Amino acid sequence: MKDIIQVTQSSMPAYEEFCEEIKDLWSSHWLTNNGAKHNKLEKELAQYLNVPNVTLFSNGHLALENAIAAMNLTGEVITTPFTFASTTHAIVRNGLTPVFCDINPDDYTIQTDNLESLITDKTSAIIPVHVYGNVCDVYEVERIAKKHNLKVIYDAAHAFGVTVDGKGVATFGDASMFSFHATKVFNTIEGGAVTYNDHHLKDILTSLKNFGITGQDSVEYVAGNAKMNEFQAAMGLCNLLHVDNEINKRKKIVNRYIEQLSGIKGLKLWQPQENVESNYAYFPVVFDGYKFSRDEVLEALKEQNIFARKYFYPLTSSFECYQGQFEIQETPVAAYIADRVLTLPLYADLTLENVDKICEIIKG
Ligand SMILES: *Cc1c(COP(=O)(O)O)cnc(C)c1O
Repeated sequence: MKDIIQVTQSSMPAYEEFCEEIKDLWSSHWLTNNGAKHNKLEKELAQYLNVPNVTLFSNGHLALENAIAAMNLTGEVITTPFTFASTTHAIVRNGLTPVFCDINPDDYTIQTDNLESLITDKTSAIIPVHVYGNVCDVYEVERIAKKHNLKVIYDAAHAFGVTVDGKGVATFGDASMFSFHATKVFNTIEGGAVTYNDHHLKDILTSLKNFGITGQDSVEYVAGNAKMNEFQAAMGLCNLLHVDNEINKRKKIVNRYIEQLSGIKGLKLWQPQENVESNYAYFPVVFDGYKFSRDEVLEALKEQNIFARKYFYPLTSSFECYQGQFEIQETPVAAYIADRVLTLPLYADLTLENVDKICEIIKG
């Protein structure tokens, strides 16, 4: 049996390190509801991400849903369909209508040339995605948002630790959502956060993740449960100590992929953006006029027990659950990329030998 290479592998601290971190939970017996580790992680993340405010959640999706809820948005929200199900679901589950904007052909983030034409008198916000950790044109998004008095919430699920012009990506917009899912660059097993500049959002976000409870005898919002527990926070505290090292290891792997695959006709590789310090979260390759199709490469890898991923395919705008629910805008660039893109295996402990092996299979 050949070794299996999954598309990703969760980062974990040493077993003993995690045990040491959770030990005192057996004396405190405090497992959730703003525990000591939760509060410590909030503080450490604010520092790491360089933002004034962080509110932790049980997962990234509920962080985004609650960030939207906290801003009292109405009507339409402009977003992109080249993303994980979560982004569009979070909009729709808040009773809002998604309006789909196309993406750039080079970095796959929101196409700002198109954006303004999609704004109507019903638009209340823009929710762009820092897809693959590539940063949106935050300056242009925010210029447009300001002109039309719209809120901006970034889906920064992929962008942990990324900086733009030396500033943390989380400092842009009204809020950003990070996912700390097991498969992300930084994980708390499951987990997520909303980061924001306006400290007035703190109370409402804290209440929304705990049934809308605002005091011992008061419940002011209809809300669910999205609290991060102490075991999740403990994993986060441990992983945070190693995340810079993990990003460095990812960088070496990405550079090896680039070295092996660049200059080949029909392969469009992920490229670093100018002024952005990347976290090397994903390595997408677009097979456009290559001797093999995307699906053929996916199959050839699978035969060798190597699992790449069609990430993202299909577009969220073509999900069955949305058909007939609202008008769906054409996004030709997003559709083109979704049909041709594959993200290759990438995690900190992927060996360079295995990267070479993957590249040999792709080269056929
Ligand atoms: C992972 C992810 C989410 C959701 O995060 P979870 O922590 O899994 O709930 C949202 N948006 C994008 C783009 C993601 O990749």
